[in-house]
Amino acid sequence: MTQYPHNFNNNTQLLHWLFRTGKIDLNEGRLFEHKPIPLPPAMNWNRIEGMILGLAIGDALGNTTESLTPQRRQIQYGEIRDYLPNRYANYRPVGLPSDDTQLAIWTLEELNGNHGLNPDCLAQRFTQGRIFGIGSTMKGFLRHYKSGLPWFESGQKSAGNGALMRIAPIVIPHLRSQTKALWVDTALAAMLTHNDSASNAACLGFVAMLWQLFSRSTVPEANWWLETYIQFTQDLESDSSYRPRGGAFTEDRGYLWQFVERRVSQAYQQGLSVREACDRWYSGAYLLETIPSVLYILMRYGDNPEAAIVRAVNDTKDNDTIAAIVGAAVGALHGKDALPQRWQVGLLGRTAERDDGTLWRVLEIADQIWWHY
Ligand SMILES: [Mg+2]
Repeated sequence: MTQYPHNFNNNTQLLHWLFRTGKIDLNEGRLFEHKPIPLPPAMNWNRIEGMILGLAIGDALGNTTESLTPQRRQIQYGEIRDYLPNRYANYRPVGLPSDDTQLAIWTLEELNGNHGLNPDCLAQRFTQGRIFGIGSTMKGFLRHYKSGLPWFESGQKSAGNGALMRIAPIVIPHLRSQTKALWVDTALAAMLTHNDSASNAACLGFVAMLWQLFSRSTVPEANWWLETYIQFTQDLESDSSYRPRGGAFTEDRGYLWQFVERRVSQAYQQGLSVREACDRWYSGAYLLETIPSVLYILMRYGDNPEAAIVRAVNDTKDNDTIAAIVGAAVGALHGKDALPQRWQVGLLGRTAERDDGTLWRVLEIADQIWWHY
């Protein structure tokens, strides 16, 4: 077991040590050199609420039919556009969380409580509650951490989407200060559970995109989504040995960003529907499936939050997580008011069995600490 060689004054020093000692699976790419772009003075908290609600709504719409193939799901449920009757809420058609929402809101709670990211506190928080639909990488992390390994040696080498799905709230403590520490905190929070080049880079790329979405007053062109993701991630990835686990492109080898660049632009040029494109590269929890699916949905439906989330829920396999990530992006771009009222009203705001309303309470505290202070 490795102990810290000294006490670090801040997370930036800590991350430098992790880079120097090779403990983080990531290149120190150009992103780390620049402060995030200044947010416009007119930027509204509504965008932050939209990001968090979009994440929770996407998860809730998807998690009742998670892991069905789109074909199977359609036969059983038709096109899903509303919450399904839920056995954990007396069969009412309301929105309940799975791991995506739980871990995201617990992260925000920790950021609020510690006045910023403390990775070890976040690791402890993740051990303190029943996680619904927990993934195998998260289980491995918890096993390692509970056995006494330090947090920075507990993360798994896994390119699953489990860090990406919970990363969005990391932007919130940085909205006012707008420093390079945003990238530092993102890298630390990402590696906590998934210490993997593709996952760490994807988390940084997605956070950088969310930040740009906050400052936009217009919907980006389709190509923006793909180009921006690649621009942010291509020098961050340190491992070129990824390969699809199924689908039409099993001969491909390389970096995640290369696969995304090649296959997403090809699908777009061919005018494939979301279903057709996602069937080709598969749309499960592996980042070579999740990232192309997310970007393709945003390229096709980034102008319409409802349509984007509906496509993610219906046309992908790991639909709760893909809809949660898509939901965070369209919420950050369009704001809370653009998310359908029926989805907002039906969301119970839970992060555990019986804590209705917690999501709004945590958001309200975040607003007071990080925005309207
Ligand atoms: Mg889930």
